[in-house]
Amino acid sequence: MVSAKLQRVVSLLSRLPGVGEKTAQRYVLHLLTTDATIARELGAELATLRDHVKPCDTCGNLADVEHADDPAVCRICSDGKRDSSILCIVAKVHDLMAIERAGTMRGRYFVLGKLLSPLGGVGPEDLPLAHVAREVVSRGVKEVIVATPPSVDGEATALLLKRELGPLSVRITRIASGVPHGGDIEFADPITMGRALTGRQQI
Ligand SMILES: [Zn+2]
Repeated sequence: MVSAKLQRVVSLLSRLPGVGEKTAQRYVLHLLTTDATIARELGAELATLRDHVKPCDTCGNLADVEHADDPAVCRICSDGKRDSSILCIVAKVHDLMAIERAGTMRGRYFVLGKLLSPLGGVGPEDLPLAHVAREVVSRGVKEVIVATPPSVDGEATALLLKRELGPLSVRITRIASGVPHGGDIEFADPITMGRALTGRQQI
């Protein structure tokens, strides 16, 4: 019915989260009918995206690199104005982005990559606990803010972090309510996220 090439791009786009077939079709038709530079630039950026963006070696946030094997340092880690005595621990980069949007966290981050999930087969040995502890000690961290989501796995991870980091004489706090129980930090609006950070409590 339509061009095979168009259909191929539509089916690739509709594999993305939140993009259905109709939306994908709208995107492709838009790219075909408006200024040609959008499609060209998008194509060029996507083609090299995976070679030039990788997890920061220190915190796990996403960092730009010139070559794929270069050391990765993210913009937060290289920002001298950040307070190294505060370390905010999150599950994923999406959560870091949501907290940054709130604009109240002046410290640095650590991205765990996953949550403890006994039912999902993720045990303590699968989390980078030694790496977090090393960061806490080597940077003289005074407060660890545990910003894992308020879900069963998020709470279990918070307790595990408390157990692992507790002996390091660092204050460990947990973000307050405001983020709905079972909710996703990623989708919290900046005001709610800001309140959750301000109201954090020692655990
Ligand atoms: Zn970093």
